Amino acid sequence: MKPLSEMPLETARSIRVVLTDIDDTITTEGMLTASAYGALERLHRAGFIVIPVTGRPAGWCDHIARMWPVDAVVGENGAFYFRYDRERRTMEQRFWASSEELARNRAKLDAIEAEVLASVPGTALASDQAYRLADLAIDFCEDVPPLPESEVDRIVAAFERAGAQAKVSSIHVNGWFGDYNKLTMARTLLADVFGMAWDEARKTVIYAGDSPNDEPMFAAFPVSVGVANIQAFAHRLISKPAYVASGHSGEGFVQLAELLLRAKGA
Ligand SMILES: [Mg+2]
Repeated sequence: MKPLSEMPLETARSIRVVLTDIDDTITTEGMLTASAYGALERLHRAGFIVIPVTGRPAGWCDHIARMWPVDAVVGENGAFYFRYDRERRTMEQRFWASSEELARNRAKLDAIEAEVLASVPGTALASDQAYRLADLAIDFCEDVPPLPESEVDRIVAAFERAGAQAKVSSIHVNGWFGDYNKLTMARTLLADVFGMAWDEARKTVIYAGDSPNDEPMFAAFPVSVGVANIQAFAHRLISKPAYVASGHSGEGFVQLAELLLRAKGA
């Protein structure tokens, strides 16, 4: 990971699309600061395609797609994308699974939920679970006292024993049934909505993140950035971001936005 300040100007100038995680990448200690939100808005106004790619639930993503200065959102770790067409006043939604599959998967996730809550003391169902359509989020750090890594690994193992995928964010373990992740749905969105072939996407997209559930994105996009808090998870990552910001969380995202806006002359 090289310092973000060492990104060559021509690399920064090649970026047209900003894909970014939300929790602890844009937000700081659980809050969306005015400066981080302002950075999203400045990028959007300058003509960058801005797309949050998050583990957060469908209920939140409806709000984000509709009201934030963004072009679309990928949610629940790639279970869907939402895009609000402001001219036609329609919310476009594409899910990885059919509604029948979602219902079948929910029953299996309910069984995992019961097992994890009974067998890993100190965990809780994530408080945003009611607004999720495709995944199960177990809280190990948001509204419960932080659990040690060994307990986080036990939660992941429970998902994997049941044949589910599991990813660790900075606050939750998210698990789901289906062969998708943040990357597969981001690729689908870029192709479907923005007509962007994969070769083009790899040259014009930057991804910003902070934790292990961002790893498929760090691996896929040659230009990727971790905010400074990624350092705490670096030992869990096989694919690390190419660059790391000196600022933590939202402050690191603002540094990235300013670098891109400067390079663009905006
Ligand atoms: Mg995060």
